[in-house]
Amino acid sequence: MASAGDSQAGTVTGDSGAEVARLIASRVTDVLDFPKPGIVFKDLSPLFGDGRVFRRVVDEIIAYQDVDSFDVVAGIEARGFMLASAIAYASGRGVVPVRKAGKLPREVLSVAYDLEYGQATLEVHTDAFEGGARVLVVDDVLATGGTAQATLDLIEGVGGRVSGFSVVVDLSFLGGRDRLGSRPVHALLVV
Ligand code: AMP
Repeated sequence: MASAGDSQAGTVTGDSGAEVARLIASRVTDVLDFPKPGIVFKDLSPLFGDGRVFRRVVDEIIAYQDVDSFDVVAGIEARGFMLASAIAYASGRGVVPVRKAGKLPREVLSVAYDLEYGQATLEVHTDAFEGGARVLVVDDVLATGGTAQATLDLIEGVGGRVSGFSVVVDLSFLGGRDRLGSRPVHALLVV
């Protein structure tokens, strides 16, 4: 597993190879002390704003996860929505939003959890995955893993079957993968 030490030594790694990891690293900006003092926020705006790199990210996630392995793509609010929509479109699948509290209009399942810089509640419609749909889950950044764990629990709680979980950046020194246990994580850049 990569560590903060690897990053400091200049090694750039990820689960889809060093070349795409380097490309992504070149389009991620560290913002110090956002949204709170002590947090180094990984801003992916340069990546989303570069059509060639954004397309590469989408293509790499679909290639890794296998387009035949999922029926729908679930994105975690809000940056996960951008990824999920593009992946769903490119793979001819539907997209399901996993939203913050109070945004979804019909019956929901909710879960409250801790994240790196606060607390949050996520919700999904209870009928989002009827028939046991296979669900590819995506988000921009894996930090402590609380958001991901809550999302995977929500999806399974309403009958979805998680086929895979992909993120653009894994902040490995925060232990998100460990928190997710046996659930596999695909990260294009591990820092
Ligand atoms: P966590 O639940 O701690 O794994 O936090 C993951 C969620 O919070 C993701 O939806 C990220 O978008 C966001 N997040 C947490 N920490 C950071 C960070 N350092 N930089 C950017 N986004 C972050």
